[in-house]
Amino acid sequence: MKNKIRILHMYPDILDLYGDSGNMEVIEYRCGKRKIGCEIDIHTIGSSTDFSRYDLIYIGGGADLEQQLLADDLAKHSSQIRSAYERGSFFLAICGGYQLMGRYYKDSNGKKISGLGLFDYYTEASENKSERCIGNIIIEAELDGEKTKVIGFENHGGRTYGVKSPFGTVLLGNGNSFRDRFEGYFEKNVIATYLHGPLLSKNPKVADYIISRCIGRESGDSAELVPLDDSLENKCREVLLKRFMKT
Ligand code: GLN
Repeated sequence: MKNKIRILHMYPDILDLYGDSGNMEVIEYRCGKRKIGCEIDIHTIGSSTDFSRYDLIYIGGGADLEQQLLADDLAKHSSQIRSAYERGSFFLAICGGYQLMGRYYKDSNGKKISGLGLFDYYTEASENKSERCIGNIIIEAELDGEKTKVIGFENHGGRTYGVKSPFGTVLLGNGNSFRDRFEGYFEKNVIATYLHGPLLSKNPKVADYIISRCIGRESGDSAELVPLDDSLENKCREVLLKRFMKT
């Protein structure tokens, strides 16, 4: 079994809404506690990156302008990113990054940015710029057969359609579209979601799911991880769940 995870953090200088980079700090922290090695490289505009090296490819969220800025660079690497996906790299994509993994994103001015088309969904914003999905969000996801509440914050004008396998069902908030029943996109090796937070600090089980898939990559299954003491994280989650569910 592997004892090291190689991570590629894409565009951390451009896509870091609501502290999304914190997600990689959480992965590093939880790996460190378990003496699992963690190497994080960066891809940004103009980098020449060998995408095949990585167990985890991470892309955070950003506003329309940032998405437009990097779209050409992303397109240049499309076939390499696709082959990393086909070879079993784990993909974590947040909000703007989630949108760019799909077929396209059309903003509120009608401007269309091509996505990677890795997955079949597409995203369109309302022409009314003030129509946005904003607020705390709680979804219920199932990871390795275990149901878990995932807590986050969403702020997007884009509404994502055509998702065949969502990340979770919405308990509070909007999700893929206004008052949608579903949120995000999920495959065994893909979590694409609107949840900022950062996602992984509020949801250690999601972080561990990702680590275990990366460690177990060669077997094609999740690896057993040494449990960590998450009592503080769980207390914090209890407070948030109580507070948000009341609103
Ligand atoms: N630009 C996108 C939208 O507003 C993504 C925003 C985000 O990443 N929070 O839909």
